[in-house]
Formats: sequence, structure tokens, C-alpha cells
Amino acid sequence: MSAGARTGALVLTRASVRDADGLVDILLEDGRITGITAAGEGMLPPSAEIADVDGRVVAPAFSEPHLHLDKALLGGPSSGGALDAAIAYTAERKRSFTHADVEARAERVLAAALRAGTTAIRAQTEVDPTVGLLSVDVMHDLAARHRDWLDLQIAVFPQEGIRSRPGTLALMREALLIPGTVVGGCPYTEADLADARAHVDTVLDLAVEFGTLADLHLDLADDATDERFALADYVAQATAARGLYGRVAIGHVTTLGALEPDRRARTLDALAGAGVAVVVLPATDLYLVGRNDRRSVRRGVAPIGELWRHGVRTAVSSNNIRNAFTPTGTVDPLDMALLLGRVTFASDVRDFAALHRAVTSDAARVMGSARAEGISVGAPAELVVLDSQDPESVVVDQPARRLVVARGRIVYSSTVSERFHGSLADHLGALPTPLTAPA
Ligand SMILES: [Zn+2]
Repeated sequence: MSAGARTGALVLTRASVRDADGLVDILLEDGRITGITAAGEGMLPPSAEIADVDGRVVAPAFSEPHLHLDKALLGGPSSGGALDAAIAYTAERKRSFTHADVEARAERVLAAALRAGTTAIRAQTEVDPTVGLLSVDVMHDLAARHRDWLDLQIAVFPQEGIRSRPGTLALMREALLIPGTVVGGCPYTEADLADARAHVDTVLDLAVEFGTLADLHLDLADDATDERFALADYVAQATAARGLYGRVAIGHVTTLGALEPDRRARTLDALAGAGVAVVVLPATDLYLVGRNDRRSVRRGVAPIGELWRHGVRTAVSSNNIRNAFTPTGTVDPLDMALLLGRVTFASDVRDFAALHRAVTSDAARVMGSARAEGISVGAPAELVVLDSQDPESVVVDQPARRLVVARGRIVYSSTVSERFHGSLADHLGALPTPLTAPA
């Protein structure tokens, strides 16, 4: 690959793009895709920067609609732990959070995200009387500092409950005063079913009051015996009742897989009808679900193929990175897509194409972003160049990331021998650095 003089316009030439016949040139101006033409056949602005990608795949940059930056890289109890233990361990660690500490860990994750080709993140950010708005403040600082390459959307997240942690609701309301802030929820941490339902109502009422999107952690358990973990139908009804079609996401929802097929089909139809999106978080769900199974251990993820067949909106995301909820993580959406495909019987190009959309355009749709348009004229110029020639196989290939384009500019190039594109140093200081677990 080579590049010409830096100007306002950028052209990625000889690109492989899904659904295109032959290679194309992609013209980017003013942060948008302004032209897609057969390679070598379009008129290019004479002053444009040219990046010849030599037949490689150009795809939408990834979106992570569910990522916990504030509690990333905390490690966890050496014995591991179930969901309750992970929440308790993290609650204790939150007592010693400082602005600098949260910022440093979050920024290491952002460095890895950029290297992976991710330029949009919804940060699930904890708010409660212990941590107050400290983590929210950090996220606002990071959103401003990295705005040249990152859409950082903040979801205020009451991990320890709303009714069960008095004082949390007032903090959520304060955080929601800043436009664009998403209201999060976690009803299963409430004491009983009535409180869990009231938690859902509170979150969706806030979404209406503040005119924002809602995102609930929901139904993360082995089965639906405890009804606090079987709220998907309730969320669908409550969403429809408030006219929030397309504005509510639910993450995890592992108990869907434990329902009887007829019951599950009704639930999926209800979610589809209400426009509620399901965000599957396979790294965490596989780690936390099925812990008490002594044989035939459950797979513990939402059945994404069935979700698609019922028309439910979906996305896949990393969730936690190397903490008590998830000991692994490289902040790579393609890795999450492949992991989910492997445990849900993904088998043909349509399945893998859908998994690719689940970490790109579909993930963007969950965030309410124009990136949902994918690669088309008028869409945001947020792209990644992958070291693969086959747009149909990127989830299976897991190709290296060669270039990342944000706001129509190259913000990351993976090969140090080539001309350095953009000013990564401006964005991330000495980053990217190797991502390693804390000692
Ligand atoms: Zn989460």
C-alpha cells in the first residue's frame, strides 16, 4: 500500500467489498463515503490522498455496543466465580477506583479497540453511591480526547440495582442530563420479581423522559427458574407500551436457550414485534453459564440463529475484558463473532455474513448510528482494511487489520515499515501498547 499527499479527500483504491462485482475505488470526503466506482474508472480529485489496498477487503469499522471500559483489566478472584461472586468482587474493587486508574485501564482497552478496527463503542459505565459519577466523568474525558477517531457513547449502568442501592437513581438522572447518554439497567440484581419489573419500568420511563436509548443487562442465568432472569417478554411489552420501538437493547438473555421451543418462539416474536435488540456477549456468557452442570455443560448463549429467523435485531460484542466476569478478551469483535459462530452451529456463508453484520452494521443500529448503512454512498467514512481478499470469509479468516479509517482519515496503519498515516501519537500517546493482564 502507498499513500499520496494528505488532503481532505482520501481514496481507497482496488478494494474488495461485499456485494460488489470486482474491485472498487472508494472516495471519502468530509467524513462521508461520496463515491464507489469500479476500480480505475472513476474521476478522482487530483489532490486526494490515494491508499491502494491491493485487492484487500474493505469493510465497515467495527462497533462494540456493549463494552465495560471502567472495570476492564481488573483481574478477578483466582478461584473464578459465578455471577454473584463477580459482582461482589467488583463492588469491592470499585471502592478504590480513582479517575487516573479508571482512565488508564480504559485507555488500554481503547488502544486495543483501535488496533482491531473498532471506532464506535457504547461504554457500559457503572453508577452507584460507591463510585458516584467518577467513571462517567472519565468516559466524558475520553470521548473528548479521542473524538477524532472514536464515537464513545456512554450508558449509565446500575450494576448493583436501583431499588437495592438507594441513591443510584438520582445519580443516573444527573448523568442523563448530558444529551446522548444512554440509560442502562440490570433488573436481575433486585431482590425479587416485583422489584426487577419495577427496575425495567424505571429504566424505560427514563428513556422516554430523556428522549434516549435504553440498554438492559437481562436474563443472565442457566434457566428461567428464578423469574428475575426471565424478563424478556416483560421488556418487550413495556417497550411496546411506551412506543420505544427500535430504541431498547437487552444484553446476555442466556435463558432464552433454556425455554421450551414453543415458549421461546413466542418470546422471540414479541421481541421482534417490539423492535427490541438482543446483544449476545459470548465470552462472558460461556464463562458464567453452566457452572453447576456436571455433564453436558450448557453452551450458555442466546440462540442467535433462531433470533435471526424470527426477525429479532441482534448484535455481538465483547462485554468484559479480563475481569471477574470474563477472564479473557482482546477487544476484537471478529473474535467474538467467530466464538459465537462456533458454539451456535454457524455453517455457511450466510451465517458468517450475518455474524459479520452483527459486529458492524447491526451493532451500529443498536447504537442508533448512521453507520448501520454499511458501505454505501452517504454513509459515514468509518472503515477497516482487512488482510483478506474475500469479503465473505472475514469471520472465518480472522484477518489482520491493515488500515483503520475514521472521519474519512487513516487513523491507524498496522505496518510500521510503511508511511505513518495520521497522527496516532496525537490520539493515544505512546499507544498502542501490548494489552496484558494486570499482575
Ligand atoms: Zn455487560
